[in-house]
Amino acid sequence: MPYFDHNATTPLSPVARETWLRACDEHWHNPSSLYRDAAKARIRLDGAREQLAEFLGIDAARVVFTSGATEAAHAILGYLAGRSSSDPVLLNPTEHPAMLAAAERRFAGRVRTLSVTPDGVVTREALQSALACGRPAAVVVMAANNETGVLQPWADLHAVCRQAGVPLVCDASQWFGKLPASGLGKVECVIGSAHKFGGPKGVGFLTLPADADGFCVQPGGGQENGHRGGTENLPGIWAMVAALASAEQKKVFLESERLFHRQAFERALLARLPGGRVVASASERLWNTVAWLAPAGENHRWVTKLDKLGFQVSTGSACASGKEGPSHVLGAMGYSAAEAKRVLRFSSSWDTAADAWSALVDALATIAPSFENAPAGVVSVP
Ligand code: PLP
Repeated sequence: MPYFDHNATTPLSPVARETWLRACDEHWHNPSSLYRDAAKARIRLDGAREQLAEFLGIDAARVVFTSGATEAAHAILGYLAGRSSSDPVLLNPTEHPAMLAAAERRFAGRVRTLSVTPDGVVTREALQSALACGRPAAVVVMAANNETGVLQPWADLHAVCRQAGVPLVCDASQWFGKLPASGLGKVECVIGSAHKFGGPKGVGFLTLPADADGFCVQPGGGQENGHRGGTENLPGIWAMVAALASAEQKKVFLESERLFHRQAFERALLARLPGGRVVASASERLWNTVAWLAPAGENHRWVTKLDKLGFQVSTGSACASGKEGPSHVLGAMGYSAAEAKRVLRFSSSWDTAADAWSALVDALATIAPSFENAPAGVVSVP
């Protein structure tokens, strides 16, 4: 079945599956135990940390393995909020709900929202003017948006933060595995999640600033250099790094071709279903993501009809799609609630072929006439 929801989650990649099974079969011992088999598990764990650090160009001591991006967001914002009792956090309003909730909880009453352009970008100028109002404890801007694919100019924003002496927290969950990891290590705190790039669910990572003394997600048996107690998920961690290594390879050869597929899909979509719009079309976006404002019909109904034709797509963030109310991301970009309810997200993978994109356009064109008389945004979900 053509799967166009890779920003929600990805299938386990063959190399991740093989690595995970091998770790379960051969390295199931506790890496903290003292006999030789445990030492072998420890060597694998250290090796995975070093390989990830190498992709990022950082010291391995800065890497903390977590259960995913949500945990990492709460942990790092909790730590940064605790370093000062009054400094605010400057928050990009198009962050994933995991980061928004972490900021609300950890910086209760101290959240200042950055402005974004109608194309969903936090500009250097917007950050500079927010910083001119006072030094925050941290700036939070993601690398790539899960709903729209919009790429933030994180390297530029990081340069501004650095000059102001403020740490940048960058949720790169949707960047890793799609675009090169190198360079992200320069950012003080970076977050990744394995299941977004062919790794297993329930594993991710966080990079710490060099001066993160006392950082502790949860005290326990001293694992993760004392940063996170609990026996390490070695199969998950090793498989995650194997998946990332495999994706990093693909980028070298396939990225421009995959971007071409996405652009061809967008052209065909706009030509065959006039009246629709690609969200943030003027922004640089992930090669795999299209958020499309349909000319009519509520997005949930499109999703159901596409599913019946064999296509799995999304209304936006998987975590938010069960909730009532329009997307906060589209709201921050100036879309009305009625428009936001007509937005569908298509997200491909390295393995999505050009003819899968063409078949998706055909399916959308088949469904469209059923919405022709529908008043936009008010069609009830069956
Ligand atoms: N951040 C972004 C940008 C995401 O897309 C997601 C997943 O939907 C998350 C955070 C949450 O990730 P996890 O499932 O690893 O907690």
